[in-house]
Amino acid sequence: MLTETPTYSSKTKGLLAGRLWIVLGAGVAYILFALFWPASHARIAAIADIICCLIPALAGCWVFWDCWKLRGKAFAKEAPREVTARWRAALFLGLGAFAYGAGTFIWTYYELGLKREIPFPSWADAGYLLCYPFLFLGVLFLPSRPLAPAMRWRVLMDSFMTITALVTFSWYFLLGPIVLAAPEASLGVILGAAYPISDLVALFCLLVLTGHADEQPLKGVVRLLVFGILAVVCADVPFGYLTLHNLYQTGQLTDMGWLLGWGLIALSGSELLQVTPQSQATEPADVQRTAAMTSPLLWRAMIPYALIPCVGALIVYMLKHHPDANLFRNRMDVELEIGVYVGSGLLIALMLLRQIFVILENNTLNHDLRSAYRELEEKNRRLQSLATTDGMTGLSNHRDFQERLRVELSEAERHGASLSVMLLDVDHFKLYNDSFGHPAGDEVLRTMATVLRDSIRDGDLAARYGGEEFALLLPGADAEQARATAERVRSAVSAHQFPNRQITVSIGVTDIQIAGTDPEALIASADTALYAAKHTGRNRWILASDPESLFSAA
Ligand code: GH3
Ligand code: MG
Ligand code: MG
Repeated sequence: MLTETPTYSSKTKGLLAGRLWIVLGAGVAYILFALFWPASHARIAAIADIICCLIPALAGCWVFWDCWKLRGKAFAKEAPREVTARWRAALFLGLGAFAYGAGTFIWTYYELGLKREIPFPSWADAGYLLCYPFLFLGVLFLPSRPLAPAMRWRVLMDSFMTITALVTFSWYFLLGPIVLAAPEASLGVILGAAYPISDLVALFCLLVLTGHADEQPLKGVVRLLVFGILAVVCADVPFGYLTLHNLYQTGQLTDMGWLLGWGLIALSGSELLQVTPQSQATEPADVQRTAAMTSPLLWRAMIPYALIPCVGALIVYMLKHHPDANLFRNRMDVELEIGVYVGSGLLIALMLLRQIFVILENNTLNHDLRSAYRELEEKNRRLQSLATTDGMTGLSNHRDFQERLRVELSEAERHGASLSVMLLDVDHFKLYNDSFGHPAGDEVLRTMATVLRDSIRDGDLAARYGGEEFALLLPGADAEQARATAERVRSAVSAHQFPNRQITVSIGVTDIQIAGTDPEALIASADTALYAAKHTGRNRWILASDPESLFSAA
């Protein structure tokens, strides 16, 4: 999950806030002025034209200026992909706002300069229609987290379902009436239909933005974009309706939606350029995978399903609207209804298809989860082994020995079994190190581990107790058997052909008959015996019960 928050310098923060105030201030001024200024409609329309041209174009130019300043950073050789993507997205958002400003400029030129009715289509429409593809590209290029392939298909199906539902609605209320009203296809008809489609694009952008809703660094950007797009759509829909019924005039309150909307969209571009760059490449692979596996927020997953009852309600509305449909329906009504039925059928088919992708996605997630679990188990095993094994010799370490000793002691107590312990210390090992070097000494310790392992039974435990000291744990072995093992170990070591010179060990042996079942007491007993072995000449073992008895194999 991305957790960084945007960090700007206070100067940049002030600059962005200043721009926001200019856009919001212009919007508020426009409302006050349209509502309360007792001027003629022509004057109000003229001022509306100028503000609606100036503010989006100005906001677009701010983005261009920011892009120009940051071009070096965005296209530097070592620039993270995300920084370049942000720069590109911001530029498109700026272009969208600027295109709207340019369209309004042409519109204003017709209205104020040429003082004539604006023809349809005109060059103003080029500007007005261009801003939506730019907006779409801007939203599409917003850097996002990587998605798992199965999830990508499901997201695509969600988008198709949403678009189908929106087109079905639009067909019945806007798109259909416009297209069907004109019998022959002219540029005007096509452009007339392009406007409602543009709003669908804008709504689709909102849907895409829900995918970024939980990405912390983009929060401010997404908020500005959502408000901007909503403002534009809120102006577009009444505009479409009013135009359809020949009621639209420049200077109405709805115009404020475009001024504010495109202003905010451009500001989101400026904000996007200031967000702290955070390359996804720098995120650990685990974090990336977790992000890809993160399930979508519940409300977002519900969007496509929420639209199905809406389309159902549309069908009910349609049937109620024409109760005596069979008798009086005209051709246009029939075609509108057919369109709605086709849209609903497609929606149901897409829903079924989506279910298939959900099953596939669940399958993949399940598989990923299981392999992640296996990986975790393997890592746990490795961790466990690292925590219990001595790195140099591969024997159990001191901690593992103590744990096993406690376990075996309670087992022996419960079953009344024997248990013996030995401590071994390499004789004159310091001298060996001093004579042949520490690496040669390490080699001796490693070989010693092999010799010890080979000298004990399967259920016994050999451990490196510390430094050049080893410990043996012999569950089930009484003093007699322990003696035999001690002698086996002692003679195996002294008979082994170590490089440089012969190596011997001294061994202290004890068992629970002698020392009891307290682990500390048992170790202390073996240690005392080892001490005795050292002091009576080395290369020998001594049983704790009889430290005075001497036994030398030499
Ligand atoms: P003694 O017969 O009385 O045990 O004599 P010693 O020299 O073995 O006794 P001492 O305990 O004084 O020395 C132990 C030496 O073991 C000192 C230390 O350098 C060496 N040693 C401890 N751990 C390691 C190790 O991991 N690698 C190597 N090469 N030497 C080690
Ligand atoms: Mg020692
Ligand atoms: Mg020693």
